[in-house]
Amino acid sequence: TKWVYSFGDGKAEGEAGMRNLLGGKGANLAEMSNLGLPVPPGFTVTTEVCTHFYAHERTYPDDLKDQVRGALAEVGRITGKRFGDAQNPLLVSVRSGARASMPGMMDTVLNLGLNDETVEAVAKASGDRRFAYDSYRRFITMYSNVVLGLEHHEFEEALDLYKDRKGYSLDTDLDADDWVKLVGTYKTIVETGLGRAFPQDPEEQLWGAVGAVFESWMNDRAITYRELHDIPASWGTAVNVQSMVFGNRGDTSATGVAFTRNPSTGERALYGEFLINAQGEDVVAGIRTPQDITEAAARASGSDKPSMEKAMPDSYAELVRIYGLLEKHYRDMQDMEFTVEEGKLWMLQTRSGKRTVKAALRIAVEMVAEGLISEDEAVSRVDPAALDQLLHPTIDPDAERTLLTKGLPASPGAAAGEVVFSSEEAEKAKKDGRPCILVRVETSPEDIKGMLAAEGILTARGGMTSHAAVVARGWGKPCVSGAGTLRVDYAKRVAVAGGKTVKAGDFITIDGGTGQVLLGAVGMRPPELSGEFSTLMTWADRVRRLKVRTNADTATDAKAARDFGAEGIGLCRTEHMFFEPARLVAMREMILAEDEKGRRAALAKLLPFQRQDFVELFTVMKGLPVTIRLLDPPLHEFLPQGDKDIAEVAAQTGLSPENLRRRAAELHEHNPMLGFRGCRLAVAYPEIAEMQARAIFEAAVEAGKATGEAVQPEIMVPLVMTKRELDIVKGRIDAMAKAVTEETAATIDYQVGTMIELPRAALRAGEIAESAEFFSFGTNDLTQTALGISRDDAGTFLDIYRKKGVFETDPFMSLDREGVGELVSIGIERGRKTRAGLKVGICGEHGGDPASVVFCHGAGLDYVSCSPFRVPIARLAAAQAAL
Ligand code: ADP
Ligand code: MG
Ligand code: MG
Repeated sequence: TKWVYSFGDGKAEGEAGMRNLLGGKGANLAEMSNLGLPVPPGFTVTTEVCTHFYAHERTYPDDLKDQVRGALAEVGRITGKRFGDAQNPLLVSVRSGARASMPGMMDTVLNLGLNDETVEAVAKASGDRRFAYDSYRRFITMYSNVVLGLEHHEFEEALDLYKDRKGYSLDTDLDADDWVKLVGTYKTIVETGLGRAFPQDPEEQLWGAVGAVFESWMNDRAITYRELHDIPASWGTAVNVQSMVFGNRGDTSATGVAFTRNPSTGERALYGEFLINAQGEDVVAGIRTPQDITEAAARASGSDKPSMEKAMPDSYAELVRIYGLLEKHYRDMQDMEFTVEEGKLWMLQTRSGKRTVKAALRIAVEMVAEGLISEDEAVSRVDPAALDQLLHPTIDPDAERTLLTKGLPASPGAAAGEVVFSSEEAEKAKKDGRPCILVRVETSPEDIKGMLAAEGILTARGGMTSHAAVVARGWGKPCVSGAGTLRVDYAKRVAVAGGKTVKAGDFITIDGGTGQVLLGAVGMRPPELSGEFSTLMTWADRVRRLKVRTNADTATDAKAARDFGAEGIGLCRTEHMFFEPARLVAMREMILAEDEKGRRAALAKLLPFQRQDFVELFTVMKGLPVTIRLLDPPLHEFLPQGDKDIAEVAAQTGLSPENLRRRAAELHEHNPMLGFRGCRLAVAYPEIAEMQARAIFEAAVEAGKATGEAVQPEIMVPLVMTKRELDIVKGRIDAMAKAVTEETAATIDYQVGTMIELPRAALRAGEIAESAEFFSFGTNDLTQTALGISRDDAGTFLDIYRKKGVFETDPFMSLDREGVGELVSIGIERGRKTRAGLKVGICGEHGGDPASVVFCHGAGLDYVSCSPFRVPIARLAAAQAAL
């Protein structure tokens, strides 16, 4: 088997299409080599070796060592050096690289191959001892941390101590002798910590680092990251071994990262950061504040340090040439890593850049205008779930602001919450339902869970490409990074800036769009949707076949949903309408009534309210279809619970508290989800359905007259399991339609259909469709009843089930295609066999979940219905399903 793929010198054995085997980084290094770009030569050890490693008790395939030796010799030939050679040593980096990008989750070792002997050779060859020993101390630190398991801070403390003693402030203040001394100290730290000397044999170093990269695939933060991003553990990582180029060779050398377009806004301009006389890790770690790449950006940020454009015009010009080329080649925004060694630019990585959804929209739409991609491709480029981010509020410009400090606008959107200083506190706050802002000096991959739990992230250190910024942008979470004046004291649990102090638990607001950090919870404003959003949605609407309706119970919700492009109401839950105080009294009278006469009297009081609700809804929807579900929940939900409530209701209704308590006890159910609810109510008390039907028909006539648009109500009977149930209720509805038609002399165009939310109904869909004029799959209840899991009680074990791989995703969030999905498919097939062209939709949380929408498209549904804010998500997901 071929385990190793070489790249460099204008050619490569791999290419971009081989990311499964070579990982994203390796595949793109090969691709860049093939394009003739300046890539330091190297080779990729495939992901199959990682799979082998874990399948065979952490050992390698037999022939791997030979293949690595051969590839390393080839790198030596190209560079004119030899790995481990005492006179002319080749130094390499050992870099992880999975199929899906997992920024910062796994480990990389730079400057490998250095030892007490080769460091002298490097010093001599370069004529720069400072550089040689700076590289050596970096290598000892990284290798000790990644491979030997020593803590970073031990080395940092030694360095800080040394700097203090010498009165230095920057790492670049240290000269050759300083680094020589520190290397001595570092080696002592290793010996003390491990009881053995720092490994001097380059061969041993290499295999130590390769093993550590494979091991890092299973470290906690990588596992967490994979769980969060649904990356299978079976994929494995590749290892890239690449000859070193040095950004730390003085002022003509540098290292940096750049995006071909702005990842926050999508603006078409080279965007990024670089550091002179530094190695890669320095930029990401946020140890020094990086400089801007372009002069325009430097001016805009008011930085006093020169841009790359000014400081290194030739390398800058080369970067500009290359970025244009890469973007054309990949036809997507690229995120690049580069290093300049003594004036020569080297490319170390390129990949499709993570971006905010705002940027994704702008980039997709502009690339269509530039002729780079088609409209369909643009539609496929934007993650539907991410549209959610756009629907976030921003800070109200008229709200009063008290500035605490200002940092970099690292990830847009505004968030308010109480200050927490650790991941654990953030998770605790989230659990208790308290919104929080995670405040850190800087974040590292260990903080991932806290960052996820927090509403927003604030860091004192780190640039626009720091860990916090990259992760936050990926999630669409507001983030302000590099708030330089902020002093964070973890021990005292306070943060201070400009003489103002915030304690843990105090409220702050961050504005990731401007970088402002404000005291207190500042007023927010609903989002504005940009021009690119509507452009892309127009393209999406052109491709999709599925219609998108909304779940709305009020005119306000319906209005919001129409603004988001809803094409009707797929589910109006009538029970919510009865909870307003005035109605609740009548509702309770109805429930507590001893006989039908009493119930009818109470229902008569509810009728005008209910009719008015529907008039408003029909008016907003202007002739679009509206599906109204008859009363569904068990009646006891409307009854008072505590003694105080009971006393109050007793006073209102004139019933005795004992009587009330007795009635509540009678209505008590052991398992209300499977109890006296849904159409069972209408079968037992038809007068309830009659009142609702009357309200609907009278409202249809009234709203039809007022708007001039014929209203087509669709009346939906919930929780049906047999045709007979539906017929009983439908009989009453039809009779009521006739009555209202006669009373008003208007024609009413309506349909009666049913929800399919019990397995029996799905199986018997053929005969139910004889009476039902439409189906709507209530997948919340259908999931509960098909899986036998109560959604309200699933929390206790669902997490465990996900961890143990029983469920890949929460079946209440994303439809269980195999099980519930099959019931849906059976229901559709049998229903349409009876009634050709039967209209079928889905309501329930799944209607707004992109993966479930894809299923619905494939299953042949006519529409999905979801909450108003998810309508754009469903529209885009439906379009992608159709592509
Ligand atoms: P990550 O996946 O965390 O970004 P990388 O493997 O990309 O890790 O390495 C991090 C940084 O190390 C790179 O951005 C680059 O600056 C530096 N680096 C890696 N390999 C080399 C090399 N061969 N020469 C110089 N710098 C390198
Ligand atoms: Mg990288
Ligand atoms: Mg239901």
